[in-house]
Amino acid sequence: MFYIFKEIRRERNEKILCAILALALTAALASCGSTVVEPQPEQQTDVQPTSSTEPEFEIETSLNYPVLVNKENELPEDWEENLEITTVKNSFDDEVEVEKQACDAYFKLKEVLAAEGVYVDLDSARRSVAEQQRIWDKFMEQYGEVYTKRTVAVPGFSEHHTGLALDLYLNIDGEDVYLNEDMVKYTDVWAKIHAKLADYGFILRYLEGKEAITGYGYEPWHIRYVGSPEIAKEITDKGITLEEYLNILPVGDVTPPKDE
Ligand SMILES: [Zn+2]
Repeated sequence: MFYIFKEIRRERNEKILCAILALALTAALASCGSTVVEPQPEQQTDVQPTSSTEPEFEIETSLNYPVLVNKENELPEDWEENLEITTVKNSFDDEVEVEKQACDAYFKLKEVLAAEGVYVDLDSARRSVAEQQRIWDKFMEQYGEVYTKRTVAVPGFSEHHTGLALDLYLNIDGEDVYLNEDMVKYTDVWAKIHAKLADYGFILRYLEGKEAITGYGYEPWHIRYVGSPEIAKEITDKGITLEEYLNILPVGDVTPPKDE
């Protein structure tokens, strides 16, 4: 799944230069790290209630940060309408969408890592269900059902829909390292990154040896915001997965795909 998006990015970078220029122009108009919030409850405060039975103020919704979305558990129906997103630009000038609170935590993590000489950037974070559906349809058309099912997350069942799952890449000696096969070589760098995750509310989501529970092979770059350092530390200290923390075990076939 992760690999596919890199392929798409490279393809886009090579073939659709105009699109990139347009993106750059958009980026020039919008400040880096600008917040895109949808929906924006604050903007609705001017709207008068249409009937006396409606509340006169919006009740602030809060996401269930430890939410479980995996091959067995679908994104909650109302998730996207309650999601507040921050858009950030990475070193490739790609715009990456991250859930607001997770984004704040990520920048703190990034800063503390940089102080130790470890440089990370955001490859991919939130993808909407609609976007995943487009990718799914494209792969079904081009490669058929078997390949698509093996390599693309089923729309609605990707943790990336939450905006809380972040795929990192590395910058080593001034060079971006973003291909999976290259990134996995830097085990000591990942160890330094993983050691700091819980302090900022993140966990390493797909652990080695836990493929049968998570449904995914080991991914050192895929981190997940769970809402608080307390929860993250408990999960990390126990060496368990989010599924185990939530006491939800998978059912059915969770055979890890080969191309993860
Ligand atoms: Zn990922």
